[in-house]
Amino acid sequence: MTMIDSNLQGVHARIVQACLAAGRAPDAVALLAVSKTFGPEAVHEAARAGQRRFGENYIQEAVDKMAQVAALGLREPLEWHCIGPVQSNKTRLVAGHFDWVHTVDRLKIAERLSDQRPADMPALQVCIQVNVDGGSTKSGVGPEHALALAQAVAQLPRLRLRGVMSIPDEVPDRAAQLAVHLRVREVFDRLRSQGGAGFEAFDTLSLGMTADLETAIAAGSTMVRVGSGIFGTRHYGAA
Ligand SMILES: *Cc1c(COP(=O)(O)O)cnc(C)c1O
Repeated sequence: MTMIDSNLQGVHARIVQACLAAGRAPDAVALLAVSKTFGPEAVHEAARAGQRRFGENYIQEAVDKMAQVAALGLREPLEWHCIGPVQSNKTRLVAGHFDWVHTVDRLKIAERLSDQRPADMPALQVCIQVNVDGGSTKSGVGPEHALALAQAVAQLPRLRLRGVMSIPDEVPDRAAQLAVHLRVREVFDRLRSQGGAGFEAFDTLSLGMTADLETAIAAGSTMVRVGSGIFGTRHYGAA
């Protein structure tokens, strides 16, 4: 068994344990494997171990990697999730290559993604990124503006609104971390109950990473985004 295989098993065990501890079904939480900075061989190895969903932050790196992974050959297609910031000049690449985008925090970006989604691809699945603990310099829409943004996004023809995503800052104390996660959960619940038309597929709370997946699952996360826990320590810009 390779390191990636055994890490994946370990992460699955943590997810199941956290679900049971929270009184949730053991399969209530999907695993997004965050492969940023890791090469196509690492993705291929995880895919051979059964992992299907992969998250990437850097658009050009991701698009290159998708082609490289495909060239290595796989029996089933992978699902690619954009979890990094999307600038206007990158929307066409994102719309043309990804299955999901978790980081929609401005209507203008959502409109471009919808306009540029190729007609022969299914609708782009999107989450609204919410900022519950940072100032205006941090990515994500403030909780007070999340409903209006989500309702506008829900009307765009080539997007499918799926839920809420957040990247709360890490806090050392578990109770404080849970409190922040529960604030994201509140936004998710409020949007789901008040959203209205276009919210039929609103079922995803993208929350939790390697360090905090247990508290995120306790707070109701339905998708955890795990990088270093699967692939190991990241090394930036050392190529
Ligand atoms: C890098 C990243 C992750 C994964 O972080 P780990 O701590 O390595 O699990 C998850 N979500 C986002 C948005 C990221 O940028």
